[in-house]
Amino acid sequence: MLKFTAPFLGIMIVLSSCMKGQKVDLVIHNAKIHVMDDANSVHEAMAIRDGKIVEVGPERQILNKYRSDEEIDALGKDVYPGLTDAHGHLLMYANQKLGVDLTGAKSMEEVIYRCEKHLAKSTNKFLIGNGWDQSLWDNDSMPHNKKLSKTFPNIPVILYRVDGHAALVNECLWKKAAVSKMTVDGGQICLENGVPNGLLIDNAINLVSKHVPKYSLKQVESAILDIQEELFQYGITGVHEAGIENKHIGMFKSMVSKGKLKLEVYAMLMNSKENLAFASKNGPYRYRNLDIRSFKVFADGSLGSRGALLKKPYSDDPHSHGLLLTSIDEMKKVSRFCLDHGYQMNTHGIGDSANAIVLSIYKYAFSRKPDHRFRIEHAQVIDPIDFAKFAEYAVFPSVQPTHATSDFRWAEKRLGKSRLKGAYAYKTLLSQFGMMAIGTDFPVESTNPFFTIHASVQRKNSSGEPTAPFLPEEGLTFDEVVKGMTIWAAFASFREKDFGSLEKNKKANFVIFDKPMSSSVAFVQNYAWRTFIEGKIVFALDEL
Ligand SMILES: [Zn+2]
Repeated sequence: MLKFTAPFLGIMIVLSSCMKGQKVDLVIHNAKIHVMDDANSVHEAMAIRDGKIVEVGPERQILNKYRSDEEIDALGKDVYPGLTDAHGHLLMYANQKLGVDLTGAKSMEEVIYRCEKHLAKSTNKFLIGNGWDQSLWDNDSMPHNKKLSKTFPNIPVILYRVDGHAALVNECLWKKAAVSKMTVDGGQICLENGVPNGLLIDNAINLVSKHVPKYSLKQVESAILDIQEELFQYGITGVHEAGIENKHIGMFKSMVSKGKLKLEVYAMLMNSKENLAFASKNGPYRYRNLDIRSFKVFADGSLGSRGALLKKPYSDDPHSHGLLLTSIDEMKKVSRFCLDHGYQMNTHGIGDSANAIVLSIYKYAFSRKPDHRFRIEHAQVIDPIDFAKFAEYAVFPSVQPTHATSDFRWAEKRLGKSRLKGAYAYKTLLSQFGMMAIGTDFPVESTNPFFTIHASVQRKNSSGEPTAPFLPEEGLTFDEVVKGMTIWAAFASFREKDFGSLEKNKKANFVIFDKPMSSSVAFVQNYAWRTFIEGKIVFALDEL
């Protein structure tokens, strides 16, 4: 990764103390500043003081009116509000970085080989892997643990599927967990000849989680800081963290108080007793750049592991409708709790049945509080008769367009042609609610927002696949995607008064992009040239 180097900054800063006018801390000029306001204004210069925007306007107006010790000539580059990833997993990604990276592995043999290589260098007496995806293998059926248990007979091993909705555990860990039952609500213990084969789907993973060794908080913290650097290079200044446990609140707080965690983190709480107690006690909670005022609930699983809850059976498995992970009563309870305590409810909904259930629960929220901003995370497969309910009950869709261009290979196999019409339907969703929050679901997908732009507009992945765009009628415009990552993402986290556009009195969280910002049929990788949080530079692209 390219990193900021101090000497280069020296060239950028022009000492201009002789200038007259109001004193500010920083002036950005000779820029193409996309304000992202209602009028779609574009200006050349911006003055910043105490971490906030004082004024954005024409070049001469700003340069004449303000004087500043620090002035940056943006060389005519595009400036946008800092991007937000409206659905990502800092903790999951940190764990992935600390464990075996299985992304892109082409077979179970390669999965095991990567585990052996990792273990040879590791001091840990356990193995946690992330990122396998059986749809990339020659034999694309779900794996079993025979070879895994044979290769690692004496240490616990757990390997999570790329979406986190399935895990393969070895015999050693399975025995440790001493699971006596064969069925579990909202999950599946997969069997071969009546015997568990190590593959666990959705809630079944919880049966072993207590026995999975944990990395130290210090290790996790340092991995999160690496991720922060990775995000800054793309101009990302905020993340909606899609699900944290109670113990992580303290970790995030301590990272913020030390000034290490600079990202705007909007953390969703997992639905646990401790987290409900936290919300009851604190109400909507803010500590500097850490914001906690929402709950993450899982209505169903994922399409990849056939855990997504469908109204009709899977086209490639007539015996399965998928899984309901949280009971309807429990989801209703959480929604009432959220309304009572000023919290937002963000429910994972992939299948058309899961989405219909969540929409019906949100109908009640709308009757109590029209501006509830309750979200459906993913909103991936919608029965066409349900689309209008997003508008009717003011439900905020939160989508990850790269899922469309990752799933296109097998989505039709799972859903069939007619059901595919309501899948990855971002344009239709946007036309209902008028806004949408856009993210990546990292580490399920890459953190790279340019993949998201390409997937949204061109409906292709960065390698140009599929050759014919995937469901192109559901593509978004470039402007819509950027709004989904800036001002609409701010709305989705109740922060539209603080950031998301470059208007007076908002935080000076912004990015100057290296290359012009646009979307073309051929994918172009871009980076931030400079990234700023509250007027302070946090990343500069090195020019070697
Ligand atoms: Zn997620």
